[in-house]
Amino acid sequence: MTQPAASAPMSRRKFVATNAAALVAAQLPSNLIAADAAADRQPLAKNGGPKTVRGKPGAWVRWDAREQAQVKAAIEQASLFYWAGRGVSKQTALFVERFKQHCPREQVMTCSSGTAAVHIAVAAAGIGPGDEVITSPVTDFGTVTGILFQQGVPVFADLGAATYNLDPAAVERAITPKTKAIIAVHLAGTPCDLAALKAIADKHKLILIEDCAQAWGAKYRGQPIGTIGHVACFSLMNSKHIGTGDGGVVASSDPRIGPALLKFGDKGFDRTATGFTWDQTGVLATNYRMSELQAAFGAAQLERLEAIAAKRAALGRAFIEEISGLPAVVPPELPAADRGTFWFFYFRLRLDKLKCTRAEFVDALKAEGAVASAGYIPVPVYRTKVFREHAFFAGRWPLRETGLTKMDYSRVQCPEAEAILATGVQCPLNESMDEAYVREIGTAVRKVAKHFST
Ligand SMILES: *Cc1c(COP(=O)(O)O)cnc(C)c1O
Repeated sequence: MTQPAASAPMSRRKFVATNAAALVAAQLPSNLIAADAAADRQPLAKNGGPKTVRGKPGAWVRWDAREQAQVKAAIEQASLFYWAGRGVSKQTALFVERFKQHCPREQVMTCSSGTAAVHIAVAAAGIGPGDEVITSPVTDFGTVTGILFQQGVPVFADLGAATYNLDPAAVERAITPKTKAIIAVHLAGTPCDLAALKAIADKHKLILIEDCAQAWGAKYRGQPIGTIGHVACFSLMNSKHIGTGDGGVVASSDPRIGPALLKFGDKGFDRTATGFTWDQTGVLATNYRMSELQAAFGAAQLERLEAIAAKRAALGRAFIEEISGLPAVVPPELPAADRGTFWFFYFRLRLDKLKCTRAEFVDALKAEGAVASAGYIPVPVYRTKVFREHAFFAGRWPLRETGLTKMDYSRVQCPEAEAILATGVQCPLNESMDEAYVREIGTAVRKVAKHFST
């Protein structure tokens, strides 16, 4: 039994703990335990030893007849516009209704991307020239695009070593009289410390925006992600938990922000207004609308969300369990009270406790049959060329030229964020996998870590 993980969806530790005493008492050969413990003590596959990962993910069916039927229903409509009048734009209405079951917010605006969702949120929050928005340097670029287009200033705060999310103490240190908002990114599906961030936001009268693009279905202390901040943003881009090819959603129950979301997603139009016309809103905004075709597809996808989220949450916990307790490996930190939905699985190496580089570790892990890669984004957002050169608008940044900000991104440093990117290993995780397969990958991590440990 050299592949216990494949046959027993129980963790190695739990298995040993629950069976060891019984086996000894019955005077049975303890080869079961020995073999189980030995799986991670075999020679590395890369050196001719047995491959640890024998399983494979199952078929990953992300859409089928359900989406087909819903899109067909849209095609049978006379209009594919999201706001063709109440009772006419049925797909957007259905999408919004189902979205609210997962993220109960009063105002919900469907839009064209997660980047659009954050831009709408930032604009609706009233961010203007020189206003500072504190956020994470380890995220998708879409988190900061909207800040810059509203002439705000992204301010990067450092992260928790194993949560990869904003460190509330670092956020508090980054606050200045110009700070207007915080964008909390729930990286890889791990909820941020929302109680702490909300307390900071309330204390300093800041808007808390949740970037939930990677965290569909996640929960913070039992509450759905996106319901603690003032406004929540989601992406429906193809690779997210659920998708519409491209798309996004932004939602809020805050009376200052909620009604404005519709205007900032729709060229300044207020389609709910009866007393006055669109030329009177006084709002400059672009067109970020989502069509009924995407809404139909998305409404069908939302019916899959809970199963996807629950599966990923369980797989991620199993992975953490398998790689816990190793001196050279730091598993992601996820409080027991929270539900992470693991858009991907990311752990860190303690290179000071390994006699190999990260690249060698990843190569050895791949030879074991695991899918793995080094790092996440290549550099923190502030080290991208456009930030380093302040080249946001045709190579220039009027805000800095006119003295509305003194921000110099070439001098920004977030040491923990840089270390997270320099020492992290990413393994894909999704609902097509079963627990036994994920535990095999965890066993492979253990085997490689033990081999290279100092
Ligand atoms: C994907 C993503 C976005 C942007 O979403 P798009 O739909 O690709 O524009 C924003 N923030 C985070 C954290 C993301 O992962």
